[in-house]
Amino acid sequence: MWRQAGFLADAFAVFKEHNYSVDLISTSESTVTITLDPESAVDADGSRFIRFIDDLSGLCQVEVKTDCVSISMVGNAIRTILGKLSSALDLFQDRHVHLVTQSANDLNLTLVVDSEHADSLVRKLHQTLISSQADNRAEFGPSWSEMNRTAGTARGSPEWWHARAPDLLEILGQRECAYVYDLNIIRKAAQRLNALRTVHRVLYSVKANDHPRILQVMAQEGLGFECVSIAEVEHVLETVPGGQPAEILFTPNFAPREEYEKAFQAGVRVTVDNSWVLREWHGLFTHKELFLRLDLESGHGHHRKVITSGKESKFGISLEHLGELSDHLQKHDIRVTGLHAHTGSGVTDVSVWQEQLRRLLAVLPRFPAVKVLNLGGGLGVPDRPEQSRLDLAELDKLLHASLGEAEIQLWLEPGRYLVANSGVLLARVTQLKDKGNYHYVGIATGMNSLIRPALYGSYHDIVNLSRLDSPSTVPCRIVGPICESGDVLGESRLLPPTCEGDVLLIANTGAYGRVMASHYNRRIPAEELFLAS
Ligand SMILES: *Cc1c(COP(=O)(O)O)cnc(C)c1O
Repeated sequence: MWRQAGFLADAFAVFKEHNYSVDLISTSESTVTITLDPESAVDADGSRFIRFIDDLSGLCQVEVKTDCVSISMVGNAIRTILGKLSSALDLFQDRHVHLVTQSANDLNLTLVVDSEHADSLVRKLHQTLISSQADNRAEFGPSWSEMNRTAGTARGSPEWWHARAPDLLEILGQRECAYVYDLNIIRKAAQRLNALRTVHRVLYSVKANDHPRILQVMAQEGLGFECVSIAEVEHVLETVPGGQPAEILFTPNFAPREEYEKAFQAGVRVTVDNSWVLREWHGLFTHKELFLRLDLESGHGHHRKVITSGKESKFGISLEHLGELSDHLQKHDIRVTGLHAHTGSGVTDVSVWQEQLRRLLAVLPRFPAVKVLNLGGGLGVPDRPEQSRLDLAELDKLLHASLGEAEIQLWLEPGRYLVANSGVLLARVTQLKDKGNYHYVGIATGMNSLIRPALYGSYHDIVNLSRLDSPSTVPCRIVGPICESGDVLGESRLLPPTCEGDVLLIANTGAYGRVMASHYNRRIPAEELFLAS
């Protein structure tokens, strides 16, 4: 067809003759790809189609692809959002895209892919283009599942705090706000992780919540501790009765030299995540045993800011540097007894840890003294009522499959998974306001107590604890008292008609809540209370 005037006219004459209507088309110098309108393609015994292909084959070479699906992104002036689409289109990197078209009226962009990939692609496109914005943009309103559920239920059953509502209101008393924890929820999470057959040790990542009572529960459940600063190490040694340095793994990043010295003096295990320090401060590490944190070049996580591996991340030793590093380690008698990787936070796809394990096993031959592979933390908990829980049984199965008979201990070091669900933030309603398109519900504390929504756009379920049984009918923007426009805890959330003095409950705030709080605006962050069990 190269410079052959009338080729398309001849080809399409065949379509016309056999009464096939063309849906999408793209052309190049040597190829024309089209999809057929499924309505016009109805053909009881297939004979009409065979005759059509025969006729077409007189003009060109014909290849028929079936089991394809066209996925369309539809919107007014779709061309203007091509830039925004780029992250969505990344998804097609390893998929075979048969055809891309942009409608002439600028209303849609369509991709044709194999049907087996369609569902996951649509889900990912939805996540990239809609869900990631919906939490922070009032135009999107509450989601369908939000509008059709009873407050405080998730995955069909009520959250634990539903049954404890009277206790929660009682413990809050006259306070304006407080974090309240149920330690039993933490115990159960720890027991679920301890039950994993393939995981030899579970360390609690202290930075998620360092309250002494929580650390004590972790110790009672037999967990070790993963600390990212020397202050966390000292805190664990001081607050956990009988706290042993051997139970602690120190995993700092760009920490001053002095912290490593103190860690060795204290007798805790040290993870090094930079080959520079091993070279420059080799006196510190000579004749020592340590773990190395590697960057396995695949980052995961619920937000860009919590992806902790890959080229863009400041964590870990790049695999490229392992060769020269091995020589250096030998020369200075530095023994690597463990390898560590932590790719990100809030990960719900369990195959991520299997992939990490595979990659760590691949570099294992370089480090004959290694006995431990630490797969990091990052185990996600569902934030939204409709999300499913992490499938731990599947995780166990995948890790077992990849580990095989290797004589290696697997460790995990989760933070969020152990504590997120155990905590709720309670705050009293201070003021109401109707302005612009919004109905504002103001509460007594905001980003000074819980910065995650402002920092990561993270979603926390919010209910009116004083009126749990009233239907949620009013779309609200729930805000705190901090002088920042970003002090929004929930956008387009449905609440029952709400009054001054009601208590709102913000769920899943046991992890990275109080520990990230500040005194910004000189407001005292919510204190921490514990339910009696
Ligand atoms: C923060 C952190 C963790 C825990 O992450 P979670 O998402 O809370 O499980 C584990 N390991 C390291 C090195 C960390 O920095």
